[in-house]
Amino acid sequence: MVAETELYDVLGVSPDATDAQIKKAYRIGALKYHPDKNSTPEASEKFKEMSAAYEILSDPEKRELYDSYGKDGLKNGPGGSGGFGGFPDDIFSQFFGGGSSRPRGPPKGEDIVHNMKVTLEELYKGKTSKLALTRKILCKSCDGKGGPKDAVKKCTSCNGHGIKMVTKQMGPMIQRYQIPCEACSQTGEIINPAKACKTCKGKKVVDDRKVMEVKIAPGTKNGERIVFKGEASQEPGVITGDCIFVVSEQSHPTFKRSGDNLIYDVTIPLVTAITGGKISVKHLSGSYLSIDIIPGEVIAPNTTKVVEGKGMPKKYGGFGHLVIKFDVEFPKDRFASDDVLKQIAALLPPAKETKIPANSKVEECILSSYTSQHQSSNRSNNTYDEDDEEGEYYHSHGGAGGAQCASQ
Ligand SMILES: [Zn+2]
Ligand SMILES: [Zn+2]
Repeated sequence: MVAETELYDVLGVSPDATDAQIKKAYRIGALKYHPDKNSTPEASEKFKEMSAAYEILSDPEKRELYDSYGKDGLKNGPGGSGGFGGFPDDIFSQFFGGGSSRPRGPPKGEDIVHNMKVTLEELYKGKTSKLALTRKILCKSCDGKGGPKDAVKKCTSCNGHGIKMVTKQMGPMIQRYQIPCEACSQTGEIINPAKACKTCKGKKVVDDRKVMEVKIAPGTKNGERIVFKGEASQEPGVITGDCIFVVSEQSHPTFKRSGDNLIYDVTIPLVTAITGGKISVKHLSGSYLSIDIIPGEVIAPNTTKVVEGKGMPKKYGGFGHLVIKFDVEFPKDRFASDDVLKQIAALLPPAKETKIPANSKVEECILSSYTSQHQSSNRSNNTYDEDDEEGEYYHSHGGAGGAQCASQ
């Protein structure tokens, strides 16, 4: 029996989990939410929570305190049975907020995070989008108070804290845990409905629609965040969160992006590869690039070349490069008559032949098409037909498909 399960819930383990299970759960979570793997603010928050939970639950002394008294038990550090004292109205901020990661002060409200799909052209040229955002803002009629002074009273049930501590005697142990205050719906205040603000009906906030002008500068990268500070929903007593637009670059049919460079995969015909010619491509700028392959320059398959300055704009001036990766399309089988092939052969540099020493045994071989039949199998038996006498399997292995050799 444990006082509360929140930290176990954060790690997704049961309160009777072993040390190894806790460690494993943390490792899996950390891999998923670590800022290096996941840059969203939700992930970073989750990572912090998991780390805080792991810090407690991986320490036997702290875990025992937590199991017995909940977060309250940890308030005064290990060994502090003084966890009983003091009203824990600031447990959350002390334990999760102020303690390690956030300065003390009013809690910060949630950010509004919006993924913005942007094409590569738009990232090249830059873009301004107008996006309507609906959020809550503090009611101007009552200044976010819910009504005039005499309409708002501190909740006596929770003494204005919004949560109540409940103490339970369990044999020799005293359990303390928190429950939300129902009397005030956790607001810590009771507003007299008769005197409440007419505009927000005592809710303190009203709906508001705002058009945000989101400017995407030329050269903006995927995952970049455009932040409007303090433009998320407002809440009384809470620092308003930010409205964040995250740039989500859409894939492009022609170009791939690599930082400031653009990668262009192109296949050119053999004739262009060996005798020169022109390739043209529609650029992100909207104009066509006409690129010369100068006669005499030979483009072999897998050649990489670059057109300088035709990549993405850099944010602080200049441009990246256009990197062109060439493939060469060769003609199909029997594209020319034997006579023409002889003429071509006479024009091209001669092939080098390996000299075979005199009196060597020579086997004449023929090339065949490579098919699935020729793929090596890992099964040790029955790869060949029954009559797999040495030297025979070439033949039994698929008639027209197999390479056939004959001794001379
Ligand atoms: Zn209350
Ligand atoms: Zn109001």
